[in-house]
Amino acid sequence: MLVKQLNNLKGTVSIMQEDSYGRPLKDLRISITDRCNFRCNYCMPPDEFGPGHKFLPKSDILSFEDIVLLVKAMLPLGLEKVRITGGEPLLRKDITNLIAMIRQCGPKLDIALTTNGSLLARFASKLKQAGLDRVTVSLDGIDEQIVKRISNSNVSPNDIISGIQASADTGLRVKVNTVIIKNYNENQIIPITSIFRKMNVVVRFIEYMDVGGTKDWDPSQVVFGDDIRSVIASKFGKLQAVEDQKYGQVANRWAFDDGYEIGFIESISKPFCKSCTRARISANGRLYTCLFSERGHDLKSMMNMGADEEDLRVAVLSVWGKRADRYSEIRNQRKQTTRPVEMHFIGG
Ligand code: SAM
Ligand code: SF4
Ligand code: SF4
Repeated sequence: MLVKQLNNLKGTVSIMQEDSYGRPLKDLRISITDRCNFRCNYCMPPDEFGPGHKFLPKSDILSFEDIVLLVKAMLPLGLEKVRITGGEPLLRKDITNLIAMIRQCGPKLDIALTTNGSLLARFASKLKQAGLDRVTVSLDGIDEQIVKRISNSNVSPNDIISGIQASADTGLRVKVNTVIIKNYNENQIIPITSIFRKMNVVVRFIEYMDVGGTKDWDPSQVVFGDDIRSVIASKFGKLQAVEDQKYGQVANRWAFDDGYEIGFIESISKPFCKSCTRARISANGRLYTCLFSERGHDLKSMMNMGADEEDLRVAVLSVWGKRADRYSEIRNQRKQTTRPVEMHFIGG
């Protein structure tokens, strides 16, 4: 039956395969490198990812041709959006060529990139020219010392803000992602909101998650979206929930009276698994159906053995059809048996 449907795909017919909870595959996040020039404590803590850490060998990393083949395989399944991430994606050589190649195979695709922003000022206009639609920049504070302490890098928040401005100036749609961690950067909620409100750039505050296996995540360090909203409202005035939330949307949108919007990604206090339409491909070409997966499906080996677009489509459909992930909804009942995959590897 599946193969019959797939034969039809040679034409222009497309099929939308739903998973076991009726969720379609609309979003693909591809980690194009497991390397990063930051060592954020909550993602790649320096004691685990020090000089002795072995990153993936080049031969294991997806080539641009592999990535394009994967996108082509998934496009007829209803794929609407591709997000390039990592690790730090702007470290990958010739990334603008990759964006142009993806744009060529999907003229209508929404193409986004998540970056720590350290190299963005240099790349923004080239990325836009190559066909990128939007960029999400991670920045956890405005205070230089706090940002350096979290990221364990020497990059100044001002350089990242310059990258954000350059992106907006060149016509990219820009958002800022800020993870708030108790006793770390709660005091950055107001400065972050203030600066990006002035720049008219949407900020999304993220609840600190228990993703990956290397962190000593402690639930008492999570600052909930409700508390962040209270802090913001006490300084800037009332926030109102935006009604027209879209299916599959990750962030809950809230707006001030003047229309300026802020997002909240509340996967701890308000899980959104019910409408999760995201698949992820790790830097070495494994397909993961959840950020908290312990196991991936090896598409890179298939490609090494000569799999074509249709072979990959069958494999993806078969995995997606069986998908039953809802980790954030059952976080408290679940016993982790093996170490979950790291965020810089699977892509945030
Ligand atoms: N290096 C790029 C960056 O930092 O934007 C892309 C990859 S990074 C893994 C993607 C996103 O994951 C970042 O916004 C980061 O803040 C977020 N992230 C990483 N670990 C997290 C955690 N434990 N809880 C919440 N967000 C996390
Ligand atoms: Fe690097 Fe992004 Fe992870 Fe920070 S969050 S260590 S910038 S991959
Ligand atoms: Fe999607 Fe897994 Fe996150 Fe739930 S926990 S929203 S299924 S990635």
